[in-house]
Amino acid sequence: MSYLDKLKKAVSNFFPAHARENKDAEQTESAGPHGLPNIHVLATGGTIAGRQMGAGPRYQAGELGIEALLGAVPTVRALANIRSEQIANIGSQDMDEDIWLKLARRVNELLAQKNVDGVIITHGTDTLEETAYFLDLTVKSDKPVVLVGAMRPASAVGADGPANLFDAVVVVASPDSAARGVLVAMNGNVFEARDATKVSTTAVQAFAAPNFGPLGQVHDGRVFYWRRSDRASSRPLAFDVSGLDNLPLVGIVYGHANAPELPVKTLVEAHYRGIVSAGVGNGNLYHKVLGALADAANQGVAVVRSSRVAAGPTMRDVELDDTRYGFVAAGALNPQKARVLLQLALTKTQEPGEIQKMFDYC
Ligand code: ASP
Repeated sequence: MSYLDKLKKAVSNFFPAHARENKDAEQTESAGPHGLPNIHVLATGGTIAGRQMGAGPRYQAGELGIEALLGAVPTVRALANIRSEQIANIGSQDMDEDIWLKLARRVNELLAQKNVDGVIITHGTDTLEETAYFLDLTVKSDKPVVLVGAMRPASAVGADGPANLFDAVVVVASPDSAARGVLVAMNGNVFEARDATKVSTTAVQAFAAPNFGPLGQVHDGRVFYWRRSDRASSRPLAFDVSGLDNLPLVGIVYGHANAPELPVKTLVEAHYRGIVSAGVGNGNLYHKVLGALADAANQGVAVVRSSRVAAGPTMRDVELDDTRYGFVAAGALNPQKARVLLQLALTKTQEPGEIQKMFDYC
């Protein structure tokens, strides 16, 4: 049995609802009027729906409704039959688990319908990567799901939202986008949710995939893929959140020179079930923080070591003996994505060895 098969077998104990078991129930051929694909857009707000306030740089995210955003790109109607729905209208700094759970339920519900070929989610860029990864882990379908945002408000000169939204429609309308996991379309690039991260506070080239690079590009109304992510197409999805009203409490502590143990102790006292460390280097920890996290793990709190460094995996048992402390190593997941996976993992188990298998696989 290959290493990958062994991992799949181990992980399948935790993911009995294998995505591909749903395949028979799904029809990817559901062309609506004019033979065009049927795409459903779920809007949540963000700068893509933002409006400027006066002449200065100030603007308010989450101001315009989805029909106004679609109105700015009338040519998408030549690519797909589009229906839309406003789920929220917020700056994504206010994204929360209620909206995540609502989105996961709605996306699964829509994609189970034969007459829906794919879903687009408009979203603020600040936390777009977290929502994308949450959906990547909770959506049970091979149909395309794409998150899209913008860095300039809709009312700005040179707003990037219309071009990004057009590209998102191009991506979802392409049969080549199926079974790639949840995708992010930004500034002409297509990223996998797992690796996409915001790397600029202001530039329109705001997203990158620091570990593995983009999956492809959108150019002149066509999407070109360069590669396929093994994880997306082989992962035995998915976490079932249909019956959940909330998610386990998981916090992140940021590492730095001379770091205090207070944040770790505060989270433990507040009964957090998991702590992700954004450690230094290969997820290393200042000795006082190491002590506090070791105590936390001893008390049954799930501790995941990630890194504040932009690229590269946090490896198990290198400078730090994870096995001895009962820690989990995050691999190539950044702290905010490690937090998402840990929240979902904790809905199934609190056992570090089992959680490590999920991190190795997801
Ligand atoms: N603060 C905004 C948001 O995340 C930024 C953006 O969308 O670019 O909603």
